Amino acid sequence: MGADGGSINKSSNLKLHVERTSNDYKARDDNLLEFSLESRWECCKISNLPLRLPIVSDYLGNLYNKESVLEWLLCKDKDTKYDPKLRNEIKHIRKIHDIIELNNLVEVKSKDKNNRTVKIKCKYGDEIFGDKLKTSFVYCVKCGDVVPKESLHLNLSGTNECKCPVCNEIVAPSNDIIVLNPTSQLDIQNLTDRYNKLCHGNLYHDGTKSKKRKKSSSITTTKKQKTSKV
Ligand SMILES: [Zn+2]
Repeated sequence: MGADGGSINKSSNLKLHVERTSNDYKARDDNLLEFSLESRWECCKISNLPLRLPIVSDYLGNLYNKESVLEWLLCKDKDTKYDPKLRNEIKHIRKIHDIIELNNLVEVKSKDKNNRTVKIKCKYGDEIFGDKLKTSFVYCVKCGDVVPKESLHLNLSGTNECKCPVCNEIVAPSNDIIVLNPTSQLDIQNLTDRYNKLCHGNLYHDGTKSKKRKKSSSITTTKKQKTSKV
């Protein structure tokens, strides 16, 4: 019973934190936020295990081990096997087309005493994911290549398109570029707007056309219309 009480307190603390910061993604509790920011660069959002290649990402730039996403997709008893909060956070992943496998990443061994901890880094630059990144990383939807955001800006030539510096694929910044683990409200809003447009256009995150998607997006629209009642 004592243990139950402890876990209840823990979850109510967590809820308080979420409520306090939900309107505005600003840190009120620096330590907690710092932990969550680092852990999402190091751990799979589904399994909480360290990230290992192959890594995939969704429309919102979250990082997952591909294996965990496949387990989620194939699981026939999600209600029992997954925590309700997590289920809610990853319910948008319904098909393999809702994620993109990331490229241009490499596993590096950390210098701890056992030399067993594996971390992830982009092949461009020296920064290891999770180590208080100074660089903003993005990936191109078309090719899955992860690159520093600045490397795309360098080859923007006054047009609405730029080239992926890894494979030279032509990409449209507003549609084909996903910020990894975004922290700014503007980035989150842009990524959400892009996703909503895809849903209305009957498309998955990876650009594949969906036959069934229309049903789910029209439900969202109905809900919206109900709440906004013009
Ligand atoms: Zn590329």
